[in-house]
Amino acid sequence: MKFLLLGLTLLSISDSFRLAPPIHSPSGKFTQKAGRTHGVSPAALFADVSNKITKQADILGIPCEDECGLSEYPNLPDSIHPGVLSGQALMDLLEDAKKKGYAIPAVNCVTSSSINACLEAARRNDAPIMIQFSSGGSQFYAGKGLDNSNYQAAIAGAVSGAFHVRTMAEQYGVPVILHTDHCAKKLLPWVDGLLEASERYYEQHGEPLFSSHMIDLSEEPIEENIEICKDYLKRMDKMGMVLEMELGITGGEEDGVNNEDVDKDELYSKPEEIHQVYEALMPISDKFTVAAAFGNVHGVYAGDIELRPPILDSAQKYISDKLGDKAPKDKKPVYFVFHGGSGSSVEDIREAIGYGCIKMNIDTDTQWSYWSGINEFQKKYSPYLQTQIGNPEGADKPNKKFYDPRECIRAAEISTIDRLQLAFEDLNCQNVLGLDPPKQPANTLGPRRGGLPV
Ligand SMILES: [Zn+2]
Repeated sequence: MKFLLLGLTLLSISDSFRLAPPIHSPSGKFTQKAGRTHGVSPAALFADVSNKITKQADILGIPCEDECGLSEYPNLPDSIHPGVLSGQALMDLLEDAKKKGYAIPAVNCVTSSSINACLEAARRNDAPIMIQFSSGGSQFYAGKGLDNSNYQAAIAGAVSGAFHVRTMAEQYGVPVILHTDHCAKKLLPWVDGLLEASERYYEQHGEPLFSSHMIDLSEEPIEENIEICKDYLKRMDKMGMVLEMELGITGGEEDGVNNEDVDKDELYSKPEEIHQVYEALMPISDKFTVAAAFGNVHGVYAGDIELRPPILDSAQKYISDKLGDKAPKDKKPVYFVFHGGSGSSVEDIREAIGYGCIKMNIDTDTQWSYWSGINEFQKKYSPYLQTQIGNPEGADKPNKKFYDPRECIRAAEISTIDRLQLAFEDLNCQNVLGLDPPKQPANTLGPRRGGLPV
């Protein structure tokens, strides 16, 4: 068997990423394909640099047991596997979402803790997830004490986060789209830096470091917006990456960008504009998504701006009419993404999904859930959190196990996982992969090292 695995792995060298024939796993339940199979000897790994084994676990030499070793899922196209997706696998997932009527939650992360909460939530919901970094979040990932001239900290922070996601997504057994959020014109050097990192990674491993980036030039004239997006799409398409572009303006405030006072007309995209984008980008690549404005607003607030999902429907119909015979069968030529979904009704969310929305951003609600977890923990154990020694059980009792940062951070993670469960429900994004419920994690460190029951 070992010989057979090695043989097939070597076979896959020649055809790099094309699908190799499936091999039945001992359980017969799942299959593993050569080229993504764990357990290859180091000699095979290093014998030929063109041996493009993309499993991060193999690259790093770390264990990859059970679901980590899956190369496909029961309910998804064969190309989709645990870990970060790009190229055909990524497009197959977006297509699957559009076809089956679910949207993937895209969560802004700022630490390894928030990333782990997302991965745990995705596995619990048997679903894919998008993990994204804003420019500010990327800088925070690097540490606020680091100089960010020329966005160097934001570039290093996002790359560091990307390696964390790449390493851990496989371990949790879930497919992940690794993305960056809004990139306005002045921030383009940040995404340029990340593209350089992806190009270098691609040279070595045959896939980009990130799955996709957003370029948000919605504040620029539409012609300039489209021209710059064309250039980025050309560069990204070479690596199988997806470009998310923005048209019109998402209201509200996020990551220091304030759109609270923009003209209301700007909050609604026109079908003609979306068509213009489609016509300009499609000849380059189909790997793009559009953040069209349909009254969506960043943050939760009681404004008088109305969400109008039918704008997306009108655009799909308008473009399909223009395409005539060339329109796709579902008459939904555009992949839409939903920004500023916090506080939206489930009805509006589901309606937008029906019009081809395959992703919804979640930031405000998980910012709150993370904080709320810490806040509730503090309230619950307040008498144990005031001094290092001394609590209601005795003046000389130590409080170490209460103020250990792992305790309040784990409380924040659990609160966030619970909140994300709601998001997965709202987005119809549950039982997508077809895996059994996750097993209870075994803690080999024993109860003495265990934490509080938060
Ligand atoms: Zn946004």
